[in-house]
Amino acid sequence: LLIDEAVKAQKISIDEGKKAISVIDMFILAKRMEKEGSEVIHLEVGEPDFGPPEKVKRATYDAISKGYTHYTEPSGILSLREGIANSVSERYSIDVSPEQVAITSGGRFSVYASILSTLSPGGEAIVIQPAWPAYVDCIETIRGRIISIKTNLEEGWKPDIESISNLINNSTELIVINYPNNPTGKVLEKRDMRALVDLAIERNITILSDEVYSDYSFKPFSSILEFHDCKSICVSSFSKSYGMTGFRIGYAISNVGTIRKISKIQALASTSVPEFIQYAAIEALKCKDDVKKYTSLIRERINLVCKELKKMNLSYYEPDGAFYVFPRISKDRSFDAGKFSFDLLKDKKVSVTPGITFGDYPDFIRISACQAEHLLLEGLRRIGEMLR
Ligand code: PLP
Repeated sequence: LLIDEAVKAQKISIDEGKKAISVIDMFILAKRMEKEGSEVIHLEVGEPDFGPPEKVKRATYDAISKGYTHYTEPSGILSLREGIANSVSERYSIDVSPEQVAITSGGRFSVYASILSTLSPGGEAIVIQPAWPAYVDCIETIRGRIISIKTNLEEGWKPDIESISNLINNSTELIVINYPNNPTGKVLEKRDMRALVDLAIERNITILSDEVYSDYSFKPFSSILEFHDCKSICVSSFSKSYGMTGFRIGYAISNVGTIRKISKIQALASTSVPEFIQYAAIEALKCKDDVKKYTSLIRERINLVCKELKKMNLSYYEPDGAFYVFPRISKDRSFDAGKFSFDLLKDKKVSVTPGITFGDYPDFIRISACQAEHLLLEGLRRIGEMLR
């Protein structure tokens, strides 16, 4: 009963936040407008327009024609887990074994299964905001308590370790981090990661590190996997690195016990990731050149977005990675970027994500750099018109 009440109280404080127009409202409106013949410029989607490498497409057809169309072990086929273990071991000069890898239905399911396997009902999870909304949604779904840590543009979106330390108590079980960050593009310096890890070790807390954008780092990136002394789960995915969003394949890396729990949840929810998709992922691991090509393309697009935002005199953090730029579009804290985004869609046919989606950021919008340059330029021109 106590836990139920505590969770209810937590829910109320979240739901009472400014939530005038939801992303779903925006999505429904965009779909309706497109159905009625309008051409909407999509600057809200976190999905690259380039799709998977040709070799991955061919490997998918080959795998189907060879009859790899069955269930597999819930944790994933050994050759894929070996491929991932070898790839991260080489990248970060560490020693990860295939038993420490679980293949899941996208990075999203890894996040959900990781939270479900580490957080007890009523247990507390610290989420550093702005944050991808799925963390809060997953924690709420399993009836955990969310402790939000706000970061801000003025401090370069860097979390304050002392504020985190002050909020930790006996019920705190998890700290969720995501670098390169969606929506800010921040990558934490290694010394700041070290400070966070030291705090987690001292207070016996697990770090869940969502690293789905790690290939899109424009400056040195430190994975949680480099810090052996810390209890951690690293989540990654094939969606962003290889343009394989619709394949729905991701993975978690942790200690063997936690990986068993995550695989059990994968088995419970969907048996396994389809066999031929796992074979496609093995091929993807060999496509390093494509990843480099995609990264430089996204980086060029981000630079273009930044250049245009600068011309508009908007403040933003120059991204260190990921797909997005997160500008403040008003100096007025009572500004409603939700309404702005809705009006932008209705009047100018440009879809962006309002800052409120990622926490208490009503004066920000997220612009995704996943579209071709001409669409980005036209979308930004219309945003400029709206702001005039
Ligand atoms: N983590 C972050 C921060 C994301 O932005 C996303 C998708 O947008 C995901 C995880 C999930 O990606 P997927 O489930 O496609 O692997």
